Amino acid sequence: MSPVIAEKKDCLDNDSTPSIDSGHRYLVLGAGCAGLSLVWHMLEAGINDPILVLEQRREYVNDRTWCYWNVEPTAFDDLADFSWCKWEVVAEGTTAKAEAGSARLPYIFLASDRFYQRVLDRIAASPNVTLLLGQQVLRVEERADAVIVRTAAATYSGERLFDSSGWRPAAGGRHSKWLQHFRGQRIRTERPVFNPSRLTLMDHRVSQKDGPHFVYLLPFSPNEALVENTYLFAASISPARHRAEIADYLAQFHGLGPRDYEVLGEEHGTIPMGGGAGVVRTDRIERIGLAGGAARSATGYAFLRIQRQCCDIARRMAAGSLKARSGTVPGGRKYRIFDAIMLAALARSPHLAPAFFTTLFQRSPAESVVRFLTERSSIRDDIWIIRSLFKWDFVRMLLRIFWRQPESEARQVIDSAPLTKALPR
Ligand SMILES: Cc1cc2nc3c(=O)[nH]c(=O)nc-3n(C[C@H](O)[C@H](O)[C@H](O)COP(=O)(O)OP(=O)(O)OC[C@H]3O[C@@H](n4cnc5c(N)ncnc54)[C@H](O)[C@@H]3O)c2cc1C
Repeated sequence: MSPVIAEKKDCLDNDSTPSIDSGHRYLVLGAGCAGLSLVWHMLEAGINDPILVLEQRREYVNDRTWCYWNVEPTAFDDLADFSWCKWEVVAEGTTAKAEAGSARLPYIFLASDRFYQRVLDRIAASPNVTLLLGQQVLRVEERADAVIVRTAAATYSGERLFDSSGWRPAAGGRHSKWLQHFRGQRIRTERPVFNPSRLTLMDHRVSQKDGPHFVYLLPFSPNEALVENTYLFAASISPARHRAEIADYLAQFHGLGPRDYEVLGEEHGTIPMGGGAGVVRTDRIERIGLAGGAARSATGYAFLRIQRQCCDIARRMAAGSLKARSGTVPGGRKYRIFDAIMLAALARSPHLAPAFFTTLFQRSPAESVVRFLTERSSIRDDIWIIRSLFKWDFVRMLLRIFWRQPESEARQVIDSAPLTKALPR
């Protein structure tokens, strides 16, 4: 944690007055990827009104990594430790392998601690921003003239609030299975086994009995890789099961026994697929990040979308037009429709997932797929994607959702437009 932030924290912690602190125009809840990105973009946009950021964690550690295709510049690309220009998608069978790549649109890897530190340094140098760590927000109340936020230590009011703290995996409920679960291990091997020039986006040669399941492998060197076990739609997968499945995968496909490698670290997550993120906005409150629907339904990728979402909010704020158009859901309707249909179809026919993804990468030009996945596709790219997926199995899978279940979960994804109701807390 940067010293300036600590000083600001002490200063407020010592203030024993129980009254409402109304010294900040903007309140940001949660200082993870979206909260910090929003502050960054607000500062970039020249906002110098007072901003208060409340975060429950007490310190920042390297708790995750962000990968994304470098289709447009972001403020953090130079922090990336690795990048790949080649990738593959693998399924059962000798021909079921799609190898693709692009030197113009590389896939880049950013460690979260480097991102956090860059924004924390900027905040420390920005007198109008106060970041308070160790502050769990307990209650948010929207009034006609202000938003009130309560933590155990204090009460704050502001004109407008951005909430990135709100998304939690749903327990039970109709959409509770529309989740992506994953756990990754960063490992180091004694002997060289990985090919660092090509990453594996999806290796489906693992059990598919509990729904679409694949391993994602980022090779950093011949001896080091991040190996991530990922499930779509599974209700829940225990950490022990994830670890056992990673070990089985490494044994079967890389000839590595448990003693042949060392686990350097782990990361894990659950990401919403579909409208279950519950995008909510009111006059004074806007959700951002995963809480604001930033994860792309079909892929779970959110980093680029968070940058776009936060940049858009900051620009509108600087232009004085925030109120008029706030609450836009990241991503266009075209992509939401594709994601919705694809996910609903895969939820009904999960055994087709390996062939579906492999075919997508096999039959379309690599850059068309990348632009499509990052929501930058042209009509030509879209035609490539549709043509590549025009296989009888997939067409039948699509027909099945329309035929059997018109009121499908797919509508949730297509219709995930901002709701206008109070934030539940
Ligand atoms: C392990 C992992 C790897 C990922 N990898 C990728 C990737 O490679 N590419 C990609 O595009 N996306 C990836 N994602 C998805 C997405 O980019 C991340 O989840 C991203 O961190 C989402 O940002 P966020 O701000 O919405 O949530 P977070 O970054 O989780 O931030 C939310 C913040 O709110 C705080 N908070 C919560 N409740 C409260 C409260 N009551 N009071 C105060 N603070 C609170 C939390 O402590 C946290 O700091 C990954 C996600 C995970 C978990």
